[in-house]
Amino acid sequence: MKDHETLPLIPVRKGSGIWIEDMDGNRYIDAISSWWVNIFGHCHPQINAAIKSQLDQLEHVIFAGFTHEPAVNLSEKLIGITPPGLSRCFYADNGSSAVEVALKMSFHYWRNRGQHNKTRFISLENSYHGETIGALSVGNVPLYKETYAPLLLDTIFAKSPDCFDRVPGVSWEAHSRERFASMEAILKQHADEVCAVIVEPLVQCAGNMRMYHPVYLSLLRAACDKYDVHLIADEIAVGFGRSGTMFACEQANISPDFMCLSKGLTGGYMPFSVTLTTDKIYQAFYDDYENLTAFLHSHSFTGNPLGCSAALATLDIFATQPVLENNQVLSKCMHDLTADLVDHPHVAEVRQRGMILAIEMIKDKKSRTPFPWQERRGLTVYQYALTQGVLLRPIGNVVYLMPPYVITPDEIAKVVEVAKTGIARATQ
Ligand code: PMP
Repeated sequence: MKDHETLPLIPVRKGSGIWIEDMDGNRYIDAISSWWVNIFGHCHPQINAAIKSQLDQLEHVIFAGFTHEPAVNLSEKLIGITPPGLSRCFYADNGSSAVEVALKMSFHYWRNRGQHNKTRFISLENSYHGETIGALSVGNVPLYKETYAPLLLDTIFAKSPDCFDRVPGVSWEAHSRERFASMEAILKQHADEVCAVIVEPLVQCAGNMRMYHPVYLSLLRAACDKYDVHLIADEIAVGFGRSGTMFACEQANISPDFMCLSKGLTGGYMPFSVTLTTDKIYQAFYDDYENLTAFLHSHSFTGNPLGCSAALATLDIFATQPVLENNQVLSKCMHDLTADLVDHPHVAEVRQRGMILAIEMIKDKKSRTPFPWQERRGLTVYQYALTQGVLLRPIGNVVYLMPPYVITPDEIAKVVEVAKTGIARATQ
């Protein structure tokens, strides 16, 4: 908070495509998609038009006992594009709430099935799932959760398959596979008391953009089946093409029991989220009123029609334009332009999964000694980039590119050039 005494807030007047413009007319490339939400640029004509048209029709209505066309259409579309087996949608209004829904629904499923002993969750070290108490409980980044530890659920954490930790010469696949031993052992010991395993498929975004191999997800799906535990895929950050495929789970060819989506769901326009699940889980709640098995989780703004209309317009762009194919070109461009950073004396790793590229700055490459967090090297990159008209917002010592998909190769070149100079200045 006190930083702003010397680093004033930037008042934003407008957005257009990849650009954000402040009140003084300065323009910045939004190279992090405004916290990973904005996938098709700011003020996209199609999404704007969809929301405006919906606004004149119906802004919001109670979603209990009532329904509306945008919600029905969106549910049908989501079921069509998400992994097979996901056939039920529950709407909320942000990512953390979508995670809360998944946790509660999983717990409640087992309760409705008479398994009252299942009360805990397994998650991965270095994971992040949101800021509300339940979501924070299954996260593992100390910065976010340490203060609130006394308030949180007693989650079990397995070793992260994060490949930054791998021994030189070991492949990503071998490393992630080896790390699965920790999960398998925990499942074996605790399955009776565990409702679900929750993971961020392939990229632990808030956990310094650490990445792992899809084999981990395949092993996890099989183990969850074996031990009778749900699998919750939190694709809030990696969904909607960010990881290279529409959903990251596709790269492991798996279907989770729950999938949480938000951020890019509305093109980054609206506070809106959905938790998808299977018919098997839905049926465990479907009973006569007196049995009191229904899922009670009633957000005022559930199913908001404006959110649905933004999401429908976003899905329409995916359906009518070769978004994922174009992203492959952009991803390669990001890769090629940053490839030489591997030799930088203070860059430990340049890693990439689809439209996420992360550069990890390090104090000593040989001993893998990180820069102390107090030195705030990332802040130097942030400040320098702003002076050059680029919004980069490193996480600790990790500088990353997560641009809207409407960025051009020339604009990527500009972002990379600024990132490189920023890194040089921050590590000298
Ligand atoms: N899960 C993941 C993987 C996320 O990256 C985030 C947001 N960064 C959340 C959950 C929480 O979403 P929200 O900020 O909308 O509550």
